Amino acid sequence: MTEAVRIGILGGTFDPIHRGHVDTATAARAVLSLDGVIVLPSRVPPHRADPPIASRYHRFAMTSLAVNGIAELAASDIELCAPGPSYTIDTLIRFRDRTGLAASQIFFITGADAFAEIETWHRFPEVLELAHFVVVSRPGFPVDGLHRALPSLAARMRPAGAGAARSDSPLILLLDARTPDVSSTDIRRRLRAGESIAELVAPAVATHIAQHGLYAGASLVTTADHLHGQD
Ligand code: ATP
Ligand code: MG
Repeated sequence: MTEAVRIGILGGTFDPIHRGHVDTATAARAVLSLDGVIVLPSRVPPHRADPPIASRYHRFAMTSLAVNGIAELAASDIELCAPGPSYTIDTLIRFRDRTGLAASQIFFITGADAFAEIETWHRFPEVLELAHFVVVSRPGFPVDGLHRALPSLAARMRPAGAGAARSDSPLILLLDARTPDVSSTDIRRRLRAGESIAELVAPAVATHIAQHGLYAGASLVTTADHLHGQD
């Protein structure tokens, strides 16, 4: 009998996408033996006071460039085409309806900083029934404090590993990975300050940002400074 397909989803604002995102996706894929990870920019992130700086079209373009040549990752536009805020529960329902996959085959990947806010997410705790959640450490946000921070969810938490996730009931899989200490906020700050971002993003993403003057204000390609629209 063939094993059921297992697909990861990494959602985010990706303003811009950086090495921490790509390493998070590839670490989860490797540890959980996923067939692939869909990298999915949100249209309107619900958990933010400020809207993204780059348009959704630029954020999708950068996401495609960042995963280019990495066979197990793919960029998806399903959030960008959907109306309204990008609530994870709606994304997971859309993804399930499109693919026909069961909750036990879908692995929603988040950093530990984002997951720490899970109790504020739209339709919590129902959202946790629609996929396994894979929570990945990032510098300053270890996964080992999550049992204490979220005691009502502790019984569902397991260390991530290929064996742990062969479960029909949705789990919260904790993955202690060495992801680089990089954030989109810091990248935007560096660009405003004229500092290099060469080590922090894929070369094609750095080129796209420079060509379109995305965060520093000056566009080299004035006629194309919005790819398709304003938002
Ligand atoms: P910002 O500073 O604008 O919030 P960010 O770097 O946190 O940007 P997001 O788009 O907010 O990037 O993150 C998308 C997802 O990726 C979140 O679940 C976040 O926790 C996770 N993530 C981002 N950077 C890392 C990293 N270095 N290691 C692990 N997870 C990360
Ligand atoms: Mg963030």
